Amino acid sequence: MLKQNKNDNASNRKSYVGKVYNIGEKEIKKSILDSLNPEWAKKHKEGYIHIHDLDAYGLTYNCLTFDILNAFPYSKYEGLSEIEKIISTFDFIKELVAKMGNEQSGGMSFANFDNDFATIFTNMNVNYKDKKDIFAASIRSLIIFCNNMHTRMGQTSYYVTFNIGLANNDFARFLAFTLIDEFYKSGSLVYKPNIVFKVHKGISRNKEDNNYDLLEKALLCTAKKMIPTYLLCDCEADKNIDPSKLSIMGCRTRVVDDLYGKQGAIGRSNIDNISINLPRLALESVRDCQSADIKERYETLKEKWKHIAELTKDILLDRFEKTCNSDKDLFPTNLEYNLWCEDFNTTDLKEIFKHGTLSIGFIGLTETVEIITGKKYWKDNDAYKLALDFVKFMRNYVDSQKEKYHLNFSLLATSGELISGRFVKIDKKIFDCEILKKDYYTNSFHVDVDSKIPAYRKIQYEGPFHIYANGGCITYVELAEAPLGNAVGLDELVEIAIESGVHYLGFNFPKDVCADCGTTGTFDYCPECGSHNITRIRRVSGYLEIQDFFTSGKMKESQNRKTN
Ligand SMILES: [Zn+2]
Repeated sequence: MLKQNKNDNASNRKSYVGKVYNIGEKEIKKSILDSLNPEWAKKHKEGYIHIHDLDAYGLTYNCLTFDILNAFPYSKYEGLSEIEKIISTFDFIKELVAKMGNEQSGGMSFANFDNDFATIFTNMNVNYKDKKDIFAASIRSLIIFCNNMHTRMGQTSYYVTFNIGLANNDFARFLAFTLIDEFYKSGSLVYKPNIVFKVHKGISRNKEDNNYDLLEKALLCTAKKMIPTYLLCDCEADKNIDPSKLSIMGCRTRVVDDLYGKQGAIGRSNIDNISINLPRLALESVRDCQSADIKERYETLKEKWKHIAELTKDILLDRFEKTCNSDKDLFPTNLEYNLWCEDFNTTDLKEIFKHGTLSIGFIGLTETVEIITGKKYWKDNDAYKLALDFVKFMRNYVDSQKEKYHLNFSLLATSGELISGRFVKIDKKIFDCEILKKDYYTNSFHVDVDSKIPAYRKIQYEGPFHIYANGGCITYVELAEAPLGNAVGLDELVEIAIESGVHYLGFNFPKDVCADCGTTGTFDYCPECGSHNITRIRRVSGYLEIQDFFTSGKMKESQNRKTN
């Protein structure tokens, strides 16, 4: 199969355009760093923080949940036959994905693919009942487009997420079913787009609910393909929000509260995010504290974090201001289709972008607590209390900045594809300790990937953190192998997750595919044909990717994963 050198991004494939882009990207990143306040640039270079998508600094925002009902260009399809309307509408989705992939630095999401497109087709007088085959073929084609097109920046695939599950009529149910079904039936090497299933009481959660059959279908698909993941609308953090307004990016970004009145994700964005290297601050706290007193170390950690968070907040503000002063002509697709919650043509960029979130992220909570207390937070009650208290402390700070600057600051539990390895690499040059030897830091507040604790326990430990990470987070359950056919087992874990406060849940298992005969499972060589030509699909930073393309930190982490 296609081999490739080390990447900054697991979804990259080589091309000459990509090569040219990468050279330019490096130059731009360097010149942007040089243009920033030297103290900020220094903290980034020294690995205290990571400014994500640095090349896009001041040029564009991160990700967007499209206001598709507002954006849909009905007039373009007037006079077409029903079949032409179906084909053209799916072409339009692909067009949006391809154009927006180059207009913003991060992912794109559809909040209610099932209900919204049922509405759009109904508005165009398209009936699905005698055209199910055409719909199925169009959805299949859309899936293949998302999976196969590595054309963004000449090398990367598009980060697209379809949220479904709340379908409230037969047409919408048909679209949700078909999306899952076509994804289920797609080949072993089809692992995109991301599909998020919304679980909600009275609609899609319990046996008596109208869409419970869709949940069962989704779980069967997850058991085979790790997709969909699950947005748990009845969890503590989301239970009072209209579930149709909720939408998740595959990467986990959550946009809900808005100081300017547009609650929910639709037509809104994460503008930018910066992650803080927590273990570094913990290592420094231990070094700087004369005594081994945990309380003293913890207070030092909080002081250090606050200092870095202040600086991080300043960078986010600077970037926000610059993005608001960006050239509107850099957003031709937004101008053409109006995908935001404000009219893009007539509104100042600042009045549009103020609806977005500015996120302060963190990585390596488990390492941090272990450095401070000497214990794993999921093995010791006091350490667990400290872990929760620290995340709450970070959230309180973020909320205080929200009030102070009247902007939607949020706390992000960062997945950290690149930084999981980058931060450790730098920290190893300064510190020598056991915790650094595994060569990666654990994702956000997650329990260590090699904890081996049962799935339900992992869910119960991580659940209480979700309500604080209002900028996005996910809990994963690591399974030994594909739980084929065991939708009931997964459903039980979904229920435990809702009760534990989890707002977004994913199931991971190793998926190896024989490149010669297509056999799938978990193996070093193919049990059917003996081939050693194996493609390994794993989840990284929310999206499934081929392991050969992982960054070094994520490679180490995925090799260390033990089942729950
Ligand atoms: Zn084989």
